[in-house]
Amino acid sequence: MNKFVNVEMQKKKRIALVAHDNKKQDLIEWAKYNRGNLGDHEIYATGTTGKMLEKDLGLTVNKLKSGPLGGDQQVGAKISENEIDILIFFWDPLEPQPHDPDVKALLRIAVVWNIPIACNRASADFIFSSHLMKEKYPRIILDYNDYLNRDLSKGEL
Ligand code: PGA
Repeated sequence: MNKFVNVEMQKKKRIALVAHDNKKQDLIEWAKYNRGNLGDHEIYATGTTGKMLEKDLGLTVNKLKSGPLGGDQQVGAKISENEIDILIFFWDPLEPQPHDPDVKALLRIAVVWNIPIACNRASADFIFSSHLMKEKYPRIILDYNDYLNRDLSKGEL
């Protein structure tokens, strides 16, 4: 029987924005439309996406490394450390990327930690129009304690 625990999301969300090159214009347009709401939250982004958001929208962005140079993995690490609440990730469905394994890993870890993910504008609109954006939210995740506390001396592997 699975056990679950709650991780409390605060009213002010920590949002990661990532867009592949062919999707950057899409993300910037979406972000412009939502500029007011984005300003209420803490913004993280991979390197180039972050630079564009700062330049075009005047947002303060915590910029990580560029995606292909490890930025996607940094976002994934922050999700697993409970430092990111929402992922807006406009990945390109029509072009292979040099860092495809990182893209898959990022999407996987976002599911493991049950954070909201939007991979296109419509999903991002639905997330941003939710009343939960302005409220605390108890995010339910699997309780991994049994897994973490396996007794290795008893060969529980
Ligand atoms: P970028 O990275 O914002 O540095 O272009 C995005 C990505 O490819 O993951």
